[in-house]
Amino acid sequence: MSVAVSLEEVSCVFSSAGRAVRAVDGVSLQVQEGEFFTLLGPSGSGKTTCLRMIGGFTLPSAGRICIHGQDVSQLAPYARPVNTVFQDYALFPHMTIADNVAYGLMVRGVAKTQRQARAQQLLELVQLPDVGQRKPGQLSGGQRQRVALARALINQPKVLLLDEPLGALDLKLREQMQTELKSLQRKLGITFIFVTHDQHEALSMSDRIGIFNQGKIEQIATPSDLYSRPSTRFVAEFVGTANVLHGAAARDLGYEGTVMLRPEMIRLGMGSHRSVQGTVQDRQYFGSFWRLQVAVQNSAVELTVDVESTSAQPIPQSGEAGTFHWSASAVHTIADAASAP
Ligand code: ADP
Ligand code: MG
Repeated sequence: MSVAVSLEEVSCVFSSAGRAVRAVDGVSLQVQEGEFFTLLGPSGSGKTTCLRMIGGFTLPSAGRICIHGQDVSQLAPYARPVNTVFQDYALFPHMTIADNVAYGLMVRGVAKTQRQARAQQLLELVQLPDVGQRKPGQLSGGQRQRVALARALINQPKVLLLDEPLGALDLKLREQMQTELKSLQRKLGITFIFVTHDQHEALSMSDRIGIFNQGKIEQIATPSDLYSRPSTRFVAEFVGTANVLHGAAARDLGYEGTVMLRPEMIRLGMGSHRSVQGTVQDRQYFGSFWRLQVAVQNSAVELTVDVESTSAQPIPQSGEAGTFHWSASAVHTIADAASAP
């Protein structure tokens, strides 16, 4: 495998109302060819700025960006072998769908019949074979999103950049498009760099994820490694739900330093590694599971516990006491010293 995109110590400083905002702060990463790589983080953490620097829409204040080994740090967007799908799709409202999709070919001077034929192929690829003569205003949000994708793919970019492309869609459609986008990416073998603030989207689609926090990357790993072995407290709490116990709270349960325990790893009843008594403060129904907030007896610790709805054991109600246990392998130690509150 070879490296498609690499960032070396890339920073971007904006000046806003007379003061400097370090939107991206010394980010280094390498995306492999054909990889589905996601930039995940809260709003304002620098994801869009990072993507815009890869696309060439924003120039870095420091650092180096290479695409397929070529230093593109100072190149204009059109001179880079990448294309971008923006969150608002940015379709031309007065142009037909076919002309929108074919736009990239028109700019390159490809003849009309040729580019219309190619646009039709792309519309078939995104499963919209019959909308070529309509205008963007005559399509649903989901259809516009597919058109934006077709338009970005028409120049056969080696790398596709996607900034929250599914953000405007309702949940059902978003889940459907997640599956379609992923299978399209596999089929075409293109490198995807995908931006989202939605952890579920990131976990279900990505080969690897980089977690952004305040302009820095906290961890780069596969979805399952991020979830089971977060290297910082921020990652533990941003990806999924976590019980993070530090200092006295950890010691109350017999641990040192900072440890993480996922809610679904805590079970009802007695166990051999660690068992605690606790009172259910609150319980919430999520369909496939119940989420309990449990105040552990004789300590200040409160644990979030997920119990499958189909549990054979009776699930305690709010106000009731119960016994809970977990195994040694459920406990993950977070070594990062900065994780201390
Ligand atoms: P995200 O996409 O993760 O929400 P952004 O990359 O859009 O984050 O923004 C990161 C930070 O940079 C934010 O504090 C934002 O306000 C700031 N920022 C982004 N673009 C500009 C700009 N053009 N001028 C000044 N500040 C900006
Ligand atoms: Mg953004």
